[in-house]
Amino acid sequence: MADAPREHRVVVVGAGIGGLVSALLLADQGLAVTLVEAAEAPGGKMRQLMVGGAAVDSGPTVFTMRWVFEQILDAAGFTLADLPALTPLPVLARHAWRGSDARLDLHADRERSTDAIGAFAGAAEARRFRSFCEQALATYRALDACYLRSPQLDLLGMGRALPTLAALGPFASLWGALGRHFHDPRLRQLFGRYATYCGASPWQAPATLMLVAQVEMDGVWSVDGGMHGVAQRFAELAARRGARLRYASRCERILVERGRVHGVRLAGGEEIAADHVVFNGDPQALVQGLLGPDVVRAVPAVPRARRSLSALTWSVRAPTDGFPLERHNVFFDDDYRSEFDDIFRHRRLPRAGTVYVCAQDRGAGLAPSQGAPERLLCLVNAPADGDRRPFEPEETDPCERHSLALLRGCGLQIAAAPTAVQRTTPADFHRLFPATGGALYGQATHGWLAPFRRPTSATRVPGLVLAGGGVHPGPGVPMAALSGQWAAATVMAHLASTSRSRRAAISGGTSTPSVTTAATP
Ligand SMILES: Cc1cc2nc3c(=O)[nH]c(=O)nc-3n(C[C@H](O)[C@H](O)[C@H](O)COP(=O)(O)OP(=O)(O)OC[C@H]3O[C@@H](n4cnc5c(N)ncnc54)[C@H](O)[C@@H]3O)c2cc1C
Repeated sequence: MADAPREHRVVVVGAGIGGLVSALLLADQGLAVTLVEAAEAPGGKMRQLMVGGAAVDSGPTVFTMRWVFEQILDAAGFTLADLPALTPLPVLARHAWRGSDARLDLHADRERSTDAIGAFAGAAEARRFRSFCEQALATYRALDACYLRSPQLDLLGMGRALPTLAALGPFASLWGALGRHFHDPRLRQLFGRYATYCGASPWQAPATLMLVAQVEMDGVWSVDGGMHGVAQRFAELAARRGARLRYASRCERILVERGRVHGVRLAGGEEIAADHVVFNGDPQALVQGLLGPDVVRAVPAVPRARRSLSALTWSVRAPTDGFPLERHNVFFDDDYRSEFDDIFRHRRLPRAGTVYVCAQDRGAGLAPSQGAPERLLCLVNAPADGDRRPFEPEETDPCERHSLALLRGCGLQIAAAPTAVQRTTPADFHRLFPATGGALYGQATHGWLAPFRRPTSATRVPGLVLAGGGVHPGPGVPMAALSGQWAAATVMAHLASTSRSRRAAISGGTSTPSVTTAATP
């Protein structure tokens, strides 16, 4: 354990993966960490719902970038073995198209994917897939050091990545770049969908988002007991390192005195003193004044139009028939463009939305017995307007009917009793994640400037630090976990600099405090 003082107090607001990682790493460094979470359990978006007596993962389901968790656990003296068991999935996802028997599996084994694409769309398209893979890998490698593994976008590193990025075409969209690789519109649709992992439209996402394809090709794991179990385990590990975890404890105010954070006030009035506060909610909650007037200018305001995708989800426990589900399944409709025009331009539920189905009892050779109920998360993208309208059944029912018809058109029947389905709308997501309108991925990654606009862990309020999917490096469980790591590093760097300046003052050196500017933590 490091020699940081236990008396240095940190309050982490939020037990999403970003907050949990910060709490673990800071407690491991010897700081006095209290984590306060509004919900009854850890995880935030990594949540489970009880449906028909079974726990259904109703948030993230695709576990990628295992190295991120390995690195974080290692820093805190744990290993991947301390997480629920992870099983690599040989089939990354199964894809189907409306009104056709054609199916395409992407495999963990690249050669198998190439063969599958050859059989699906011809040898020339399989060759193009190889060239796409090369470019996706080059893009990933170019951005790995200067973006993913850097506490903020590293401009010098970006300079070195320029030749690779220029090859994508200056300012190219993901959709445009894919058009140079694939002639078969179904493949363009399939790989364009990776933009939605960052809550973006393929038409507006920068071509660099093809790195998401590389992330998946590097491996997808299923988690024993579900993704929610990962959050639970991080909470347990943080507690083992000394963090105090308090659930059902909503922070209603971040307290600032003489220009610096000095604690939080919970709903109910209790105050907890702190030298640093790590905020894991959506950064726009600060801007909207939900954490009090002293922190409204902590980060720039983001217009509603820049919100990322929300979703309409159905957590289901029911028997299925007629379609051989894999763990991850994607059902495409005919008019892909209309999905994103509906959501981002017309701000309505898509009339021809893609349906994602996570069959949680399947994968890596597992399958429920014939006719037995199985756990499913079905998801359709939606506009993040949950703060504008209630998304009542009049609006959501047609989308649900259309989605079920799409699944049936691909052969999949879901025999769900009304009590075996739990729906979550953008309005529900907005209630769970205040200030978002239900946006699940922070600001949409739209346009090549998007990564520059995302806040970093440091804010304009000294002592206030950010972690989460709305912060650099971006959304998704591993990325939000990385942001938690950067938040912890920011706190520790500040502590190191202030203890240096204290030592200098005691020994008669210059006593200039190292934290003087508004942009530092
Ligand atoms: C349906 C769905 C599917 C997804 N699919 C995937 C996927 O397959 N793979 C993937 O990698 N990612 C996926 N994501 C995205 C991923 O879940 C998120 O990017 C990530 O979990 C966000 O973590 P976070 O650290 O930002 O915290 P969040 O999960 O946003 O949690 C923030 C926490 O802060 C708490 N909080 C906020 N304000 C306060 C307050 N004032 N006081 C106390 N507590 C507060 C909230 O209650 C919440 O628990 C999905 C998300 C959803 C919802």
